[in-house]
Amino acid sequence: MKLISRSELGWPATASAYWPTANGVKIHYEGTPVHITDHSQCMSHWTSIRNSHLANTSEGYVDVAYNFAVCLHGYVLEGRGLRRKTGANGNQTLNGDHYAVVAFLGDDGDTQPTRDMLNGLRDAIEYFQANGAGPEIKGHRDGYATSCPGQPLYDWVSAGAPRPNNPQENTDMPSLAIGYVPKTESITIPLPPLGTAAGWSNKWISFASDHGVAKLRIAIFNSGTNSWRVSVIDVDSASGRVNADLVSGDEKISIERAPGDANGPVSWMVEAR
Ligand SMILES: [Zn+2]
Ligand SMILES: [Zn+2]
Repeated sequence: MKLISRSELGWPATASAYWPTANGVKIHYEGTPVHITDHSQCMSHWTSIRNSHLANTSEGYVDVAYNFAVCLHGYVLEGRGLRRKTGANGNQTLNGDHYAVVAFLGDDGDTQPTRDMLNGLRDAIEYFQANGAGPEIKGHRDGYATSCPGQPLYDWVSAGAPRPNNPQENTDMPSLAIGYVPKTESITIPLPPLGTAAGWSNKWISFASDHGVAKLRIAIFNSGTNSWRVSVIDVDSASGRVNADLVSGDEKISIERAPGDANGPVSWMVEAR
């Protein structure tokens, strides 16, 4: 865990109440526009949140309301810290039930958690669980009327707040692969990963028909959008190879014959350089 302590932040000891145990952890976001371009801004960002809480006379905060914060770069910044009652969950009962972690995300600008941030949130949750917290992982909106922690983080919390997988790049993927499109079945071909140890920076998939016009339905899965892009292409033996357009994040392609296909031999070729 990449922890930044109160003393590193230059903050005094917290004045918040000792709270040795709770049912678990609630996740928050800032709910306002957040625009952080570099980790060098994160410590002062956290201090400015603390200062705004201390200046909030209606809430009467004795410290920043959250126990910890997590930035887009995966650092866990100490707030009230472990075994302290939060002031962030909405009322005294809710504050006693769960500790509180805020992500440096908002409703504009920085709205999507990074892989580093999810790892940092997971680090903070496990840190609590090793120090007095029960197993519950919830969002601020659970039990209180608020949009917090925003939909992307709430979806993650609802899925059990899983630690993100490490990227599994298949560097064994050859830089050239060829095959034939079957006549009745669909096939799925992995596309080479880019920017890996293999050094490839671009990739192509193309098709050629031995005779007549082949009609192919192709669906390309993109890991960035987590969705399939579907199209039908004509591959005419008279006009040479036909490329399917690939973009960053495309990781596999599913190919099958489309209605109107001449059902002749069609080859596919994947190249990477
Ligand atoms: Zn909240
Ligand atoms: Zn940061």
